Amino acid sequence: MNPVTETFGSMVFNDSVMRQRLPKEVFQQVQRSIIDGKRLDSAAATVVANAMKDWAIEKGATHFSHWFQPMTGITAEKHESFLSPIGGGRVIMEFSGKELIQGEPDASSFPSGGLRATFEARGYTTWDPTSYAFIKDGILCIPTAFCSYGGEALDKKTPLLRSMEAINRQTMRVLKLFGNDQVTSVKTTVGPEQEYFLIDRAVYEKRKDLIFTGRTLFGAKPIKGQELDDHYFGTIKPRVAAFMKELNEELWKLGVMAKTEHNEAAPSQHELAPIFTTTNIATDHNQLTMELMQKIARKYDMVCLLHEKPFAGLNGSGKHNNWSICTNTGVNLLEPGETPYENAQFLLFLCAVIQAVDDYQDMLRISVASAGNDHRLGANEAPPAIVSMFLGTELENILTAIEFDEPYGNTKKELIKVGVHVLPKFPRDTTDRNRTSPFAFTGNKFEFRMPGSSASISGVNVVLNTAVAESLRQYADELEQADDFESALHDLIQRVIREHKRIIFNGNGYDDSWVREAEARGLLNLPSTPDCVPYYLAEKNVALFARHRVYSETEIRARYQIKLENYCKVLHMEAQTMLDMAWKEILPATSRYVRELTETALAKRSLSPDTDCGFETELANTLGALTASAAGKVRALERVLNELPNTDSLTLARYYREHVLKAMDSLRVDIDEMERLTASSFWPLPTYSDLLFSVN
Ligand code: ADP
Ligand code: MG
Repeated sequence: MNPVTETFGSMVFNDSVMRQRLPKEVFQQVQRSIIDGKRLDSAAATVVANAMKDWAIEKGATHFSHWFQPMTGITAEKHESFLSPIGGGRVIMEFSGKELIQGEPDASSFPSGGLRATFEARGYTTWDPTSYAFIKDGILCIPTAFCSYGGEALDKKTPLLRSMEAINRQTMRVLKLFGNDQVTSVKTTVGPEQEYFLIDRAVYEKRKDLIFTGRTLFGAKPIKGQELDDHYFGTIKPRVAAFMKELNEELWKLGVMAKTEHNEAAPSQHELAPIFTTTNIATDHNQLTMELMQKIARKYDMVCLLHEKPFAGLNGSGKHNNWSICTNTGVNLLEPGETPYENAQFLLFLCAVIQAVDDYQDMLRISVASAGNDHRLGANEAPPAIVSMFLGTELENILTAIEFDEPYGNTKKELIKVGVHVLPKFPRDTTDRNRTSPFAFTGNKFEFRMPGSSASISGVNVVLNTAVAESLRQYADELEQADDFESALHDLIQRVIREHKRIIFNGNGYDDSWVREAEARGLLNLPSTPDCVPYYLAEKNVALFARHRVYSETEIRARYQIKLENYCKVLHMEAQTMLDMAWKEILPATSRYVRELTETALAKRSLSPDTDCGFETELANTLGALTASAAGKVRALERVLNELPNTDSLTLARYYREHVLKAMDSLRVDIDEMERLTASSFWPLPTYSDLLFSVN
């Protein structure tokens, strides 16, 4: 057998392992719980737990852990060994059904946004049987949801699962209207393309900014950046190739279908794309991918940077979220079909997404907001902070023809009557041309390009699933009442196109004129995190999540709070790091260089009074002035940090953006100029050139 197919999923307690190791009855119960979300009874849970434990021990595991995703955006685990004393100083290895199903980590220190005061430390983890258990570093990891004593979601998995239920409920109603009775459930699917940087560990360790904040806070423009486009899809260097090979192997063992790998646009930037899968599994897998990237990079003496903008002036890293809806019979509902009826259905789902993106632009923007991603959105390689959609000319022309009841087609032009006509297939090359659109239709799925590289993809998919569920709910309500389904459908589609076409934009999203046009169309432009977060609490958004039972109002308020707090904390740490680097490393270094220049000038003059010391004196003066200016800016940054208003988190976040971030940017200008003029032997930090070309 091929070594890859043999080891693929070898560390996963998947269906085939379960089929082998569980009694038929129990296996079927687990399957039902995966499909319909029914809870396992405790007898079955005990059997599953035992089988899991035996399997894990055979693979060398000694511990188990409920693996969960608190609102930090990364994963958490607390290991418990299988050991259980049996008297006489002896132990056996045990794992009970109860331990499998529920855990109670002492979880007081995770962000809860006020959902849980720290003295009420209790939080519960509950097994998510829809995502397989797996072994990582000798630990049997059980994917779990994490909730408070009162049942409020304290994590990223619970709302995601709820949103998948919501879109399932509404899609099923719509499919029934189309006479579709074979389908019993639908799930959304996601393939997240993950971008990252790899740099050499030795240079990384000399940069406190990278160590503490994940991005460079100083750094003059390198001599060579990405101007020549010679890195994109370029030959992969041996050390990187070795890293990728090991990463793939480890991911495959965990059942993650790592598929594509290539060099990205910026030097030392790369991308990994998996084959798409069910959204909650894709989310778990993406977390594992990020974790393994960081761990494996270290083995090759490299560091993997997942920050959205590690280097100013170069491309940042995103995570394109490819999204679609798939039935349990394997039909992709965003794939134009073969028959008129399938096409009518396709058009309705297309409309549902168009309306969702238009109605909930603000929520989509919020779902990708973070201090890190703010540096990327709107910069010239990333989609702007304005949410819009690209459908491709062909599809857009079809929608226009439907909107105005106009004939369509090149050869025999005819009226498109929804439900009567077959749509052409949309080849990839006509739908995938626009790379500047934040939300593009790519033939049979949508690609949302705003998510940042370091974030969990849970948040964006919670919004997408719920917003589309809401469009579908409205359509089902309307169509269920219709006497003549086909004409009601036609009218509905026509109306949705009319009301929501403002969100469709085929032009260049990087162009300045788009900002003006978007404004004229009434689209939101929310450049920074503090600009968009208040929309979390807009009545329509609170109502949306409550209606579909995805977030209660309390749960939304908690997330609002956490986003703002996180923003402030990140900026605070960045500012502190800058101060530290400026005082302890940069200012002393330039000062020493100025002294060397001055001493050289003096020495030259003492040899012969008319020696030309123009270079030394001029540079010493320039650097002296720059150092003085930078020191003043350091003081100014300290001042704004000392004058933090004691206020609510939104006002505080705005203060950070308006005062702290400005003071940081202004300090950086001086320091980058100092770097440009200071001799390498004096400059205390690896430069952009050192960092970007560090891996050979
Ligand atoms: P690219 O966009 O890089 O040209 P592809 O379009 O082939 O490449 O795939 C990008 C990502 O989209 C991959 O992760 C792929 O698995 C995923 N993808 C493809 N089809 C779907 C789908 N129906 N639902 C979700 N993701 C999908
Ligand atoms: Mg892509």
